[in-house]
Amino acid sequence: MATINENFLKLQAGYLFPEIGRRKRAFQQANPNAKLISMGIGDVTEPLAPVVIEAMKKAVAQMSQKETFKGYDDGGIGYEFLRKAISEKDFKSRGVDIDIDEIIVSDGAKCDTGNMQEIFGCENIVAVTDPVYPVYVDTNVMAGRSGLAASKGRYDGIVYMPCTEQNDFVPELPNKKVDLIYLCFPNNPTGAVATKEQLAKWVDYAKENKAIILFDAAYESFISEKNIPHSIYEIDGAKEVAIEFRSFSKTAGFTGVRCAFVVVPKQLMAYTKDGKTIEVAQIWKRRQCTKFNGVSYITQQGAAAVYSEQGQKQIKETIKIYMNNAKLIRQKLGELGYTIYGGVNAPYVWLKTPKGVGSWEFFDKLLSEAHIVTTPGAGFGLAGEGFVRLTAFGQLENVKEAMERFQEI
Ligand SMILES: *Cc1c(COP(=O)(O)O)cnc(C)c1O
Repeated sequence: MATINENFLKLQAGYLFPEIGRRKRAFQQANPNAKLISMGIGDVTEPLAPVVIEAMKKAVAQMSQKETFKGYDDGGIGYEFLRKAISEKDFKSRGVDIDIDEIIVSDGAKCDTGNMQEIFGCENIVAVTDPVYPVYVDTNVMAGRSGLAASKGRYDGIVYMPCTEQNDFVPELPNKKVDLIYLCFPNNPTGAVATKEQLAKWVDYAKENKAIILFDAAYESFISEKNIPHSIYEIDGAKEVAIEFRSFSKTAGFTGVRCAFVVVPKQLMAYTKDGKTIEVAQIWKRRQCTKFNGVSYITQQGAAAVYSEQGQKQIKETIKIYMNNAKLIRQKLGELGYTIYGGVNAPYVWLKTPKGVGSWEFFDKLLSEAHIVTTPGAGFGLAGEGFVRLTAFGQLENVKEAMERFQEI
C-alpha cells in the first residue's frame, strides 16, 4: 500500500493566489466589460535588458558549434564566470568578502528558500515573520516541522513573529528559543527594510542560541535609501550564522528565465545531536549536486551580463520604472488619506484598509467598485489582516488609471 506523506494534508486549504484568481474570474464573468487592473501578483512586466538578450543570443550561437558547445555545468553549482561576477559586484563592492566557493547558483530563490530546510533536522524550531512569504512555512509543513494546524492558518509548532505598525514591520526577537529564523528584507509583502542595528540584534541572537538565519534578499536591488544594508553579511559576524538568498527574478526581470543563488559561508556551522559541528556549505552542495543539475549555460551568460557596466545601467532603468510607479501610488493614496507603508525600498505598497475593514472585504470592494485586483494582507498571515498589498510592477498607464479609480470610491 502506497501511503502518502500526511504532512501535506496539514497544509491549509485555499492557497492565496488561486483564491484571488477564483474571485477575479467570477467577477469578470459577471462583468465582462469591466477592465480589470492587476496590482496583485508580484511578477515583473518590463522586458529583459538588451545586454542580457545579446549575451543569451551569443550563448545560443556557442551551443550551435561543436567547439563551443556546453553540456552539464560541471558540479551544477554555477559557472565560475557568473560566481566571480556575483562575488565582486554584489559583495566585494559593498565591502563584504564572499568567496566564489560560497556561492551556489540555482534556478530560483523560491526553490532555494523552500529546499534549504531539507538539510536541517526535523526537530529544529522554525520562526517566521507574520505576514510571511508562504514558501517558508509550507515547505516546513511538508517536512513535518510544523506540528498540527492550529486556527486561523497557523501551526502549533511554528513560532510567529508579528510585523506591525508598532514595530515598523521589523519583528522583535522571539520570546522562546528558536533554531531556524526566516527573514526577508526588503520585505514581501510589507515593503519594510531593516537597518544594520536591527539586523545586528538578530545576528547576536543567532550566535547566542546557535541558530541560523535564512535571509531572503530577493529585493535587495530596490533599496533606495542610504545606510540600509543590502546583504546580511554587512553585519559583523553574520557569516557565522546566516545563509543569504538572492535572485535575478525581480532584480533583472528573470521570473520567466530562472536564475538565482544562495550564499553559504564557509564559517557557517550546524550541529549533530551530540554537538559535533558540521559545515553547512558542504551539506548544501551535496544536496544540490544530488537533486539538481545546474542552470543552463545560456541563462548563466544572461545573468552574468547583468553585472556588466551596461547591464547595471539597464536594470537600474527598469527598477526606476517600477519605483516611479510605487512613488505615484504612495503619493496618490497618501493624498486620499490612506495610511500606507513600503514602496520606498521595495516594489510593494502595504496599504492599511480604512476604518478597520477586513483584508478580504477591502479586496472585494476594490475589485467590485474600482475593478482593481490587489492581494489581501490576511493571505500572508494573521498580522496581515487589515492590509492589502499593491505591487508596483505594472505599467505606468495602468497605475495612473488605478489611482484615478481609487479617487472615485
Ligand atoms: C519573488 C520572490 C523570490 C524570487 O523567487 P524566484 O524563484 O527566484 O523567482 C524570492 N523571495 C521572495 C520573498 C519573493 O517575493
